[in-house]
Amino acid sequence: MKSQPHLQLSVLILSTIFSLNVSYAQTSTLKNSIPEEKIQSIMDALEVEHSPAFTKKGFKFEILFDEADRYFITYVNPDFNLPDTKRVWLPRGFRNYSRLTVENLYLSLCHEIGHYLGSEKLYNRFGLTAEGEADYWAAKDCIMNAFRKDSLTTPIATDPNSVAYLKCVTVYNTQEDLQACVRTLTSVEAMMQLFYKIPSLRDPEDTAFPTLSAQSQKVVTKTNYADLFLQCRLDTWVAGVLKQSRPRCWHYPIE
Ligand SMILES: [Zn+2]
Repeated sequence: MKSQPHLQLSVLILSTIFSLNVSYAQTSTLKNSIPEEKIQSIMDALEVEHSPAFTKKGFKFEILFDEADRYFITYVNPDFNLPDTKRVWLPRGFRNYSRLTVENLYLSLCHEIGHYLGSEKLYNRFGLTAEGEADYWAAKDCIMNAFRKDSLTTPIATDPNSVAYLKCVTVYNTQEDLQACVRTLTSVEAMMQLFYKIPSLRDPEDTAFPTLSAQSQKVVTKTNYADLFLQCRLDTWVAGVLKQSRPRCWHYPIE
């Protein structure tokens, strides 16, 4: 069982990824259709799978329910009373979000874990990785395995002419991998498009509807650690899943 979380708001570091913020908070009172046990099993599966990586670094890892409804996000925060424990929080507001899908849950939890397990070269001053790195790690080292293990009872259609399939088939060839890859790319695209429709989640750089058919032309001269515009996030997920290097829309390689 998960223990009741103990939040220290003063030290809360918001991880803004799948944040559907205050203006949307009222929708959290609508219950989503995912059973609570399913949500718990997803949390447990990710915790078990990634705990060894934390153990190697000398940490205990936990994904916990936050019973408070105050934030419509998933987040990470350091608990200074438990310096050897790294936690990811899943608040009630996020769990109850009426448009929550199993895919969104995996995407957001993998992102949060990526704040801890992504490249240490991309840590910020709080010891958490850059937003782009959290997405990149989630795509490269978390989501494919999660979807392989928790495959759909009814496989998604993999139209050989779809943009997602054409990207995936350049790297993957088994049916299982193609399913997981197409499922990832289509669900990330849908999520970024959902964010685009919410003005408060749009970045000034979000000048076009994010889509798998497009690619950001931005090239940074210094790594961006903050939140990214949506096309850049989508590009980052694509790059991670397809085992490409980190996109230059946020990452400046130093070797
Ligand atoms: Zn984040």
